[in-house]
Amino acid sequence: MSSAFTAFVIEDQGGKPKGAFKPVALSELPDHDVLVEVAYSTVNYKDGLAVTGKGRIARKLPMVAGIDLAGTVVESRSPDWRTGDRVVVNGWGLSETQWGGYARFQRVRPEWLVRLPDAFSLEQVMGIGTAGYTAALCVDALERWGAIEPGGKEVLVTGAAGGVGSVAVALLAKRGYAVTASTGRPETHDYLRGLGATGFIDRAALLENGPPLQKERWAGGVDPVGGQTLVNALAQMVWGGAITACGLAGSPGLPGTVLPHILRSVALLGIDSVMAPASRRAAAWDRLARDLDPAHLAAMYEVHPFGDLPELAERILAGRIRGRVVLDLS
Ligand code: NDP
Repeated sequence: MSSAFTAFVIEDQGGKPKGAFKPVALSELPDHDVLVEVAYSTVNYKDGLAVTGKGRIARKLPMVAGIDLAGTVVESRSPDWRTGDRVVVNGWGLSETQWGGYARFQRVRPEWLVRLPDAFSLEQVMGIGTAGYTAALCVDALERWGAIEPGGKEVLVTGAAGGVGSVAVALLAKRGYAVTASTGRPETHDYLRGLGATGFIDRAALLENGPPLQKERWAGGVDPVGGQTLVNALAQMVWGGAITACGLAGSPGLPGTVLPHILRSVALLGIDSVMAPASRRAAAWDRLARDLDPAHLAAMYEVHPFGDLPELAERILAGRIRGRVVLDLS
């Protein structure tokens, strides 16, 4: 085990967060009970904000960025984990208040770890990453609410060609829901059709200012975009429909009215993956292991060397990443 390794660290530079590759020693890592040798991490939208400094994700500095990691336990003071265990961490404040996955080694708390599901390799599990696991939380929430039915009315997925969107399309289609994908990139239609989307709606159509109640169309929805897109989606839900609000790739705003909620019993279900309890995480990973076709997963992500991180961060914020990105730290 090398005592110094490369990490991507956010530091304070003249009052602003600024990230760079830096050597870090094992002795500098936080004093948590499990040391993981990180094989892969990912680039999620939130990572893009942290790495470019365009969003204040880190709440203390210096901070090793990266909200996801997958790797192998190399030391453990916890009875729950042993050397050689293959593990995944998503969220739990990584890159915000806790050092994250953009480092060859990281020390983490035992309760943050999930055992690698048998269905996936370390690379595949980062192909899913927080974005994919959040998509699974969204589908779980819609089913728990009971608004959607296999073979029933359409389910809308916005930001469909992105990370959350791609996995949501695949998971919903696999359970037999009629999935309509909203994307601003028509060149991704074949890819999304391959994942199971059967209908398409242009991103621009959901960005127009519309009346607070529109023609009823969607029984359910997964929305990683927010803003006017979510407001229009709400205005187009059928009576009793439900949509998950899980992202702000378009905007954090919600410039709408309560009319869909009080006149059509439409439910807006909030999804936070970061502090999701272990039982919800386990259910989401079970769904991914059961419903995410390996061929679909393979089509969804590409693997890049760790050194590509700054460029990938810019690309994800510009909406130029299709599906998911895996970072190889080995
Ligand atoms: P991606 O960048 O991979 O996907 C976002 C997609 O949104 C883009 O691919 C694009 O889809 C669409 N989009 C981007 N900009 C706009 C815009 N201005 N207007 C309308 N659509 C737009 O990001 P992720 O999938 O990783 O994350 C998506 C969102 O979900 C982020 O806001 C992220 O922070 C959030 N998130 C939240 C989590 C939670 O716990 N709640 C966990 C994980 C992510 P297309 O090209 O198809 O139009």
